[in-house]
Amino acid sequence: MSAANTVFLRLEGLLQAWGDTSKFVIRRSMVAPTKSGVLGMVCCAIGLSRQAAGDRLPELNGLVMGVRLDRPGIRWWDYHTVGAGIGMTTAGGGLKTGAQGTLVTRREYLADASFLVALQGDTSLVAEIVGALARPKWPVFLGRRSCPPSVPVLARPEKGGTWTNPGTHAGLEAALAAVPWRPRSEGDPSVGEVETIVEWRPSREGDLAPDEAEVWYDTPRYFDPPVHEPRLVLRGSMSVVAGPAEQARPPAPPRPRADYRNSEYRARRALRLASDSGLCVFCKNPATTVQHITYRRAGGEESQEDLRALCRLCHDAVTMVEYGRGMGLDRIDPCEPQWRDDILRTRGEILRFRSEEGRCRALREAPQAVRREVLEESEG
Ligand SMILES: [Zn+2]
Repeated sequence: MSAANTVFLRLEGLLQAWGDTSKFVIRRSMVAPTKSGVLGMVCCAIGLSRQAAGDRLPELNGLVMGVRLDRPGIRWWDYHTVGAGIGMTTAGGGLKTGAQGTLVTRREYLADASFLVALQGDTSLVAEIVGALARPKWPVFLGRRSCPPSVPVLARPEKGGTWTNPGTHAGLEAALAAVPWRPRSEGDPSVGEVETIVEWRPSREGDLAPDEAEVWYDTPRYFDPPVHEPRLVLRGSMSVVAGPAEQARPPAPPRPRADYRNSEYRARRALRLASDSGLCVFCKNPATTVQHITYRRAGGEESQEDLRALCRLCHDAVTMVEYGRGMGLDRIDPCEPQWRDDILRTRGEILRFRSEEGRCRALREAPQAVRREVLEESEG
């Protein structure tokens, strides 16, 4: 039996909404998860109804809560309507009386936020919460039912990490500091410092709360009907150690593709061919196509300066050299002397391959007499 006193939650998702107690048409979100929101989530995981939760809340409220704002997120408003002339239905499928109109509300969300939450206290209660979050009985959500988490809510130590979940820590600050802050992708800058919101309790009778303590009315006394009691929290910040990135660096976005049907592009292409006198800039045979020397503006704001007139053979050779080198947005300018030998050699390979292909095809398709002739010729 684990005697750990702290369970860590990772609250991360596209949207989160940690409502204050307002039940009005404008529903704000607090800057960080509320205690009623987090304990509501724990009750979902245990499988306690709103009514049944009432009996367990005194015990659950005994846990102290600390939050680290690893990514505070971006505030975002949703224009929200309820019912539209068809009445609002109840959970049981009936119709709410007097609700034929449309109720317009504004709801606030935190987009792309990530919080580390520590709940600390009674060891057997912590063990129960760990078990429930690992196998939640009902779905958990980040403050509103429309906000599912995008990672497991029971925080998972990184590979080779020095912390455990649950763990034993002397105080909430020590617990929050034990977990490394992780960049999302390899190479992302680290933050160094993050904000914290930590519950304050007197350590002995007569202790006075610091002047800067804030009162948050988010300690749930009942969920149905909702009744909240105040608690004291302290805002602060702590320096964090950067752990390994959560994921490898995502690949670069695909390069833009030229839209060859675009009339502006066709005009630029014609201009380029005319500027190059209709001749391949490499071999001076008649040019039939153009080559991009950069894709930075391809299909958009490119100019004829981004293009070079080429014959088909030189175009294919340049393209093969580019693919062989795994080039990015900047491509080969066939006018530059540094590419001359590569292009010449590749042209030779293409011509050799084509003649071999041609002879093989002739062998497959030709009648016996011609086949002998082709063979003799190729051996000669
Ligand atoms: Zn050419």
